[in-house]
Amino acid sequence: MSKFWNSLVHSLTPYVPGEQPQLAGLVKLNTNENPYGPSAKVLDVLHAEVGDRLRLYPDPNARDLKRAIADFHGLAAEQVFVGNGSDEVLAHVFLALLKHEQPVLFPDISYSFYPVYCGLYDIDHVTVPLSDSYQIEVGDYLKAGRCGGIIFPNPNAPTGCLVALDEIERLLKAKPESVLVVDEAYIDFGGQTIPTAIPLIARYPNLLVVQTLSKSRALAGLRVGFALGHPDLIEALERVKNSFNSYPLDRLAIAGGAAAMADRGHFELTRLAIIASREALSRALENLGFEVLPSKANFIFARHPGKDGEGLALALRERGIIVRHFKLPRIDQFLRISVGTEEQCQALVAALAEILRAAAE
Ligand SMILES: *Cc1c(COP(=O)(O)O)cnc(C)c1O
Repeated sequence: MSKFWNSLVHSLTPYVPGEQPQLAGLVKLNTNENPYGPSAKVLDVLHAEVGDRLRLYPDPNARDLKRAIADFHGLAAEQVFVGNGSDEVLAHVFLALLKHEQPVLFPDISYSFYPVYCGLYDIDHVTVPLSDSYQIEVGDYLKAGRCGGIIFPNPNAPTGCLVALDEIERLLKAKPESVLVVDEAYIDFGGQTIPTAIPLIARYPNLLVVQTLSKSRALAGLRVGFALGHPDLIEALERVKNSFNSYPLDRLAIAGGAAAMADRGHFELTRLAIIASREALSRALENLGFEVLPSKANFIFARHPGKDGEGLALALRERGIIVRHFKLPRIDQFLRISVGTEEQCQALVAALAEILRAAAE
């Protein structure tokens, strides 16, 4: 604290990301990173981009990246906005599209960055409780009355639960005056066929879909995220972005991000491997007595009826395995466990079995 701080800075409660410990040999299952690493084609492009050209500013409109994203999703480049990670995209979304007279709605258990943006931009918000089974119920948003917009992750974080597309469409139809932002950070793990809301963009000018290259394309370190929607929504985001930073994406991010979107083979192979591991891990934890929420993400959210969540997280840490535990109402008995490689998942299951066995003795 300092007398030089203004009152806004005093009032902020910043987001705290999962830790990035610098210890070798850890089984790191706490931040939903992709264990398989980026495509080799991305690495080649990044190497080629390192050179004298770094002298020059990047393309402020990141056109190559927008084109690659538009091509992948069958959209026009005018329907694509890109940012320095989807966190930055979301920050611009809150300021450009969710700050209105009426409060923005989001779930009580959700991505904990949303209330942080509300604090930063002085946006009124109302949380809508998940059901007793931790599901987002669209009907509850319809009952909530007038709002300045709605945002939720789909699948939700940190629960992993998915809202069906027909329910999303029901919300878009019932609230034509509000923007619905669907934060699809994990949607590529939603199944063989990806249950994305992107096809609805053509019919609903109030839909904005946000995605990231951090999870399913294993590029959390490159910082690339994007939003897709009607050109009017995209223009609002461009106006905010160009009032903030002309070059949020550097040359490496533009080139590497475009290459990642173009390599469909690596994307399919790795996302399907993670889906298979998630299903196997969920069954293994159920066999140990855990209640596992039905996950469509690259993590699972689980609790054990006989063991305290925080205690389990600490016991795992003593064994070199880190998972995420949230000391928050309703979910403080749960662990959020990222789906790792087969070996990492096996190490986790073995450690949990040992911890539970020791406790039973
Ligand atoms: C990981 C995550 C993001 C942010 O990802 P970036 O790395 O900033 O692209 C956004 N929303 C949710 C729900 C996430 O879990």
